Formats: sequence, structure tokens, C-alpha cells
Amino acid sequence: MIVIERCCKSTIYGWCSSQGNLYSDNAGNKYCIFHYPIELRKQSSLQDKFGKEVKNHIATSRKLSGCHIDFEVIFPPSPYPNYFDFKDCIFDYPIELNGFPLESFDASNAILNGLLLDNSSVKGAIFDKTKLRGKTSFKDCHFSSSVTFNNVEYDSLDFNRARFDNDVRFNSLLRIDYNSFYSDEALADVNFLDIIVDSNAKIVFYSSILKNAAFKPRGDGYIEFHQGKLKNVSFIDANISHCAFFGVDLSECFFFGADLSNARFFDCSFKKERTFFAKRIVLFEEEFVSNKPKYESQKYKAYFNETIYKYFTNSNLEETYCAFKNNFEDNKLYNIADEFHYGEMEMKNGKIALEKYQGKGVGNNLLKNLRLKLIIPLRAKVFTIYAWYKYISGYGTSYQRAFVSILMSLFVFTMLYMFSGLPNIKYEVGMPSNLSVLLKDFWASLFYSLYFVISPNSFREIVPTASSLTKAVFILELILIWTQFSLFILALRRHFKR
Ligand SMILES: [Zn+2]
Repeated sequence: MIVIERCCKSTIYGWCSSQGNLYSDNAGNKYCIFHYPIELRKQSSLQDKFGKEVKNHIATSRKLSGCHIDFEVIFPPSPYPNYFDFKDCIFDYPIELNGFPLESFDASNAILNGLLLDNSSVKGAIFDKTKLRGKTSFKDCHFSSSVTFNNVEYDSLDFNRARFDNDVRFNSLLRIDYNSFYSDEALADVNFLDIIVDSNAKIVFYSSILKNAAFKPRGDGYIEFHQGKLKNVSFIDANISHCAFFGVDLSECFFFGADLSNARFFDCSFKKERTFFAKRIVLFEEEFVSNKPKYESQKYKAYFNETIYKYFTNSNLEETYCAFKNNFEDNKLYNIADEFHYGEMEMKNGKIALEKYQGKGVGNNLLKNLRLKLIIPLRAKVFTIYAWYKYISGYGTSYQRAFVSILMSLFVFTMLYMFSGLPNIKYEVGMPSNLSVLLKDFWASLFYSLYFVISPNSFREIVPTASSLTKAVFILELILIWTQFSLFILALRRHFKR
């Protein structure tokens, strides 16, 4: 009787149990030709035999678990169902399975240097602790059953036009070059453009790290992002009304032209800018536009998709801010909605400045340059309705500030009246002799300053006998305080309407 000593790996993988044992190591482990230690195999004549055996084997089987295949293999079409088993495999060369009908695909613990599954149909797939090096492509791939990507490391993933009929979980999807995540190297990496997510399906990214990714999902299925890091991730022109973001840092994502109507954002963070006047959110688009020279440098040219450079200018970003504002307002998150409202108004304000600036031609002398670079932008920043709206009430976000600004104006006009003189108050000539006189004058002036604004009789009663300087101050006060008051009412209304 011949006793075939089985490969010790056959107890784990099963499929090589009919193979004879070729080699025993010091620990008594036995190996078949497929699981023969690669270093020893390479140094022996077994390398050729291994190649032949693999070729014969894959003519009928898709099980190669535990193998380290250091040459290119071509999987011939098979009449049998394709149950691919690449558990613990190492493939040194890219695997091409384009157009294959895959019953299942298990690449747990495998290291794949390139995987092409374009146009394939995949029923179920497991990528658990898989290292996807080089290019991994699932273009036009149809995933009809659930797919798991668990602790997968990747270099480059392409899911363009892939279709998902069932749930997909991306748990801790991680870039292989994690250290370069925060540097600006590397090209476009993850592509989910035009993926179709079936209404029964849900794609979940859990603690996943996506850099240089683009999304443009279609279909009614949901996409969720949980606690990941997204850097240079584009949702440009995408309909993400079926997306939800949980605790995701969105400070480096593009949302230009995206439909956010029903998207949900929970505890997400954005880039914030604090100015003297307000705290507001700065979308990545704006950051990109305002730092265009930086992002146009050679270093970034390779990093950002070329179309992004043509896509937006700061004059067309107001809609993106507005979309966020509406989304947060719909979800009754008014504080953050206000921060987007502020951004929207800033964009409008900037647009006005830009329009004024444009059409004025390029300055060719000092005066014209001064006018173009300083006076027009300054005028747009200070002397427009939007500018007033901003300085007085923070674009309607702060009735408190509008109220304080009224008090400040009253104070300033009181001082002006003390200077210009009021016909019904006898001011001492020159510096008042003591503080109590000064205070008495102040209170009297303040009273009239207020009285002028409130009482319609003031004009008839007092102003006709006043000096022309006082008349001018009076008209200025009337305009300013009433503007401030209407902005105060508007801000108050905005606040209490909610
Ligand atoms: Zn074996």
C-alpha cells in the first residue's frame, strides 16, 4: 500500500490534498508542488515543473489559495463555475479577469500586484486584509451580491460605471502609502464615477481613507461615509441626495454643482475662517480658487484633475454655498446654515467686486492701476448694499450685532451733534468747564439724536433753525439708523422665523 503524505496546507485549503508531498522542513511540515517554499523552488528545477502544474491546474480549477505565483498567468475561460479562491495568495504580476463571470472571489490576506475585473460580473467577493498594489480596476463590473472590503490597502481603485445590486462594505479602506496621504504626491486614485447603486444596495465606507477620489453615483441606493478621511475627493456635479456623511472631515472635498437636496451631514467638519466680523465656512472650491497660483504649480497639476482648473471661479460658487445652506436649514441646523449663508453672501459680494473690476481694462498707468487694484475693490467691499449688510448684521445672521451697531451709530451722531451744535441746546463755547457740564450736554444731545430718528415732528420743530452742518448730520443719521434698524428687524425675523 502506498501512503501519500499530504501537503500540510491541504488541511487548510483542501484543494491540494491529491498532490504528493515533495518536501518536508525541519518542523516536519510537508509541502506539495504548489506550496513548496518559493526560495527553495526558485533554486531548483522545480520552478519549471511548478509553472506547468499551475497551467494544468487552472485549466479546470480556480483554487490557488496559499500559492505564491511569481510569473504571469492567464486564466483560460472555463466551462465550470468560476469560484476563485486566492486566499493568502501572492501574485507578483497583474491578474486579468476582464469579462469573466465570477461566482465568487475570495482574496482574503492576498497580495495582488494589479487586478483587472473590467466588464466582469461578480456574485460575491471578499477582500479581507488584501493588499491591492498597483492598479485595481472594476470598470463596468457588475456586483450582484454583497461585497466586502475589510482592512484593504490599495494604491489605485477604479470602479467607474460599476453596478452594485447589493450591499458593499468598505471597512478601513486604506491607502498603501499611508505616510504620503498628507503629502501632495500621487495621481488620481479612486474612481467611483457613474457607479450605479441599486435601490436595495447600500455602499458603506467605514473609517476609510480616500485620496484623489471622484464620486458620481447613480441609482437610488445609499452611500454612507463614516469617520473617514477624504482628501481631494470630488462630488462635482454629482447627485448625492442619497449620501450620508457621519463625522467626516469634508474640508478638502469639492461639491461644486452637486445636488445635496437630501444628503445628510452629521457632525462633519469643514474648513472655517474666523474674521473680526464672523466665523464662516470656506469650501475647498473657494480655497482652491483663492490660491490658484499655488494649485497651478507643477506639483499640484498632476494631483488635481485637469478639468477642475477650468471648472470654477469665485463668481460661481454662491450656488454651492447656497445648496449647503438649504440642506442645513431643511435639517434645522441653523448655526451651520448661517455659516454657509455667510459664505454665499461673501461669494455674491465678491462677484459684484469682480464684475466691477472686469470691463475696466488693464491698467497701463499708475493712476489706472491704483483705481483697478485698490479703489474699485475697496468700493465694492465698503460701499455696496452687501457690504453694509455684512458689516451691520453679518448678512442677517446676527440681530445682536445690528443692535450694537445702532447703539454705536447713536453714540457717534450724538458726538457729531455736540460738535455741529443744536439750535435748542445752549452749549458752552469751547471745552466744557467740567465733567458734569459735558455729561449734561451729552445726554441732551443723545436725547435729540434719538428724537430726530423717532419723531416725524423733529424736522418741522428743530431742523429748520439748525445750521447747515447739523442738517447734513441729521440727514445722514436718518438714513443710517433706519438702514441699521431695518437690517436689525430682518435679522430678528430670520432668527425667530425658525
Ligand atoms: Zn499544498
